[in-house]
Amino acid sequence: MSVGVMGGAFNPIHIGHLNTACEVAYKMNLTKVIFVVSARPPHKDQKTLISSRHRYEMVKIACKGNHAFEASNTEIDRPGLSYTIDTMRGFTEEYGKKLYFILGQDALEDIGQWKSAATLLKTFNFICVTRPGYDSTTLMDLLLSVISLKYRNVKLNILSRTDDGEAETIGIVGSDSVIKLVKVTPLDVSSTDIRERIRNDEPLGYLVPEGVRKYIKENNIR
Ligand code: ATP
Repeated sequence: MSVGVMGGAFNPIHIGHLNTACEVAYKMNLTKVIFVVSARPPHKDQKTLISSRHRYEMVKIACKGNHAFEASNTEIDRPGLSYTIDTMRGFTEEYGKKLYFILGQDALEDIGQWKSAATLLKTFNFICVTRPGYDSTTLMDLLLSVISLKYRNVKLNILSRTDDGEAETIGIVGSDSVIKLVKVTPLDVSSTDIRERIRNDEPLGYLVPEGVRKYIKENNIR
């Protein structure tokens, strides 16, 4: 049983998150995807954060329609800043080694700033999904620029390539962890865009699930 862990501020959750999780689960044969709401994400502007309780409620609503989706409040219940390494250690106790942390190209680009990034990469498997606006960077280029330069002790090895020759699976030398690139349908949606629409009283259309749209309205989330 392989399990995907998708961490995020989900500020709020939108179809970019949901469709990505759905396609990754299918392509990577995951039995479930756990959406972990980052309560206090160290790298996000705290001023624009909707309360973690609301963000978690919206993730729960969004997960209702898919039996393979689960919402987790593990980072909300943990005091202090939310670090992925602590979360992944916790899930490893529950699920063993067949775990993948799912993140977008934009998030992978920032991984150098995460707590214990080198240990994280050497210990856990990652799935990096494509995201509009980041298409020009290949996974290997991305990793070389953010990881190899910063962490000289983390060496990368291409294990498989796509038909067009791009790196698809990259191994971390000296560990059995891999980073896989999974191409997903490009959906140029972001939580920033959703929050801007809310602020400007513009319709959210179908960019968030119906239940989430109602929750935002009923709870007067701005
Ligand atoms: P914000 O606009 O507030 O920065 P966001 O839309 O990037 O938020 P996050 O909650 O930060 O949403 O994202 C959680 C994870 O989902 C990240 O790894 C991010 O790369 C990925 N992700 C978010 N939106 C998309 C999308 N449209 N397509 C693919 N991946 C996405």
